[in-house]
Amino acid sequence: EQTQLSKTALKFFSLGGSNEVGRSCHILQYKGKTVMLDAGVHPAHQGLASLPFYDEFDLSKIDVLLISHFHLDHAASLPYVMQRTNFNGRVFMTHPTKAIYRWLLSDFVKVTSIGSGFSDKEENLYTDEDLAESFDRIETIDFHSTIDVNGIKFTAFHAGHVLGAAMFQIEIAGLKTLFTGDYSRETDRHLNSAEVPPSSSDILIVESTFGTATHEPRVNREKKLTQLIHSTVLRGGRVLLPVFALGRAQEIMLILDEFWSQHSEELGNGQVPIFYASNLARKCMSVFQTYVNMMNDDIRKKFRDSQSNPFIFKNISYLKHLDEFQDFGPSVMLASPGMLQNGLSRDLLEKWCPDEKNLVLITGYSVEGTMAKYIMLEPDVIPSINNPEVSIPRRCQIEEISFAAHVDFRENLDFIEKIGARNVILVHGESNPMGRLKSALLSNFSSLKGTEDEVHVFNPRNCVVVELEFKGVKVAK
Ligand SMILES: [Zn+2]
Repeated sequence: EQTQLSKTALKFFSLGGSNEVGRSCHILQYKGKTVMLDAGVHPAHQGLASLPFYDEFDLSKIDVLLISHFHLDHAASLPYVMQRTNFNGRVFMTHPTKAIYRWLLSDFVKVTSIGSGFSDKEENLYTDEDLAESFDRIETIDFHSTIDVNGIKFTAFHAGHVLGAAMFQIEIAGLKTLFTGDYSRETDRHLNSAEVPPSSSDILIVESTFGTATHEPRVNREKKLTQLIHSTVLRGGRVLLPVFALGRAQEIMLILDEFWSQHSEELGNGQVPIFYASNLARKCMSVFQTYVNMMNDDIRKKFRDSQSNPFIFKNISYLKHLDEFQDFGPSVMLASPGMLQNGLSRDLLEKWCPDEKNLVLITGYSVEGTMAKYIMLEPDVIPSINNPEVSIPRRCQIEEISFAAHVDFRENLDFIEKIGARNVILVHGESNPMGRLKSALLSNFSSLKGTEDEVHVFNPRNCVVVELEFKGVKVAK
């Protein structure tokens, strides 16, 4: 084994998404190479305030930018980076991520230019034209394939979470870093769960969304979800499920479509309609229908056996605008955006929340500062989006059952142990859960303290540099 004696430091810092959930963007520098991981926005802010702190770094230094998945907090500032800054590196994402990115961000442009309160479009982060131009310059990577850009090698692995989500293992001069993005390890109805890469990593950058919390088993959560919805519609109530247009919404639809088929005498044939309300509904469902071959064995088997696409739902109809919707009697509405910031889901919330028969059911992760987070405090009134001085009484039932597809503490710890990296950098978590996760990890690995296998855990804030020195870096065996 040949070793290199000179000390070289790897630098890690975040322009966003450290000690918070939102605007994910991390920088990795080693031996003159620079990698950027993700380029998101913060869902609780608008316009320039929603961006990562791009002013703090010279973006022209970036060689490669990797996007883990299509969620807005990981991808929505990419057109801004590519079109409005001095960035001139190469950008990679998986095929399904790219396919969905196009529609999702064009909707994002529409929603932010209408709902932001900005009178003039100059204030928008980017336009549809920027988006289209950026789209043509994005390169795709297959799962389990490795790309080498001037000595930066990176490989995409399944991350679970949403269709197309990837973990990236990055290798620069023999040093390996694994970036999980958002990931899940639980078996899902349609996705492959996150996998452990075959080769070890020196550094692990891992999400900490749920900190040290434990999820209830999936079967219980599914049962709770269907029972809660069932009992609400039986008493004549309406159910609002605020969802991000794509990704986890499709998992909820698989659950509800099956339940409705099992109770078709009571619920089927339009007796209690289910709607998927999104500008993107049709376009995005076609992406899901196309990429069934990238999903898990379960859903592919169903596809083969029934000869019909599992994403062509029997009991769910699409709704583009609320003016096509006749609001008579009980119904179930999956509407975006997921954090009730504006748009369709917010309009329905304001319409339905005064009635105590109705239910608002939160299934995603709600970021600090958004209406979805606020409503879980069960306030007596909520402000109207069109006029914040108008208060709307809130009498409806509020419940939360998580289908967010992030690992819980046990799953995260098990995965971190399997990776075996000596340096663990926590990202994508609010300060408190992240701090608790750090303490739990340090105590879990306390027996290694002082040995050469000691595990170092970092929870840096945005723009704070973590420097890791690697002395005898392995060059070749
Ligand atoms: Zn995500």
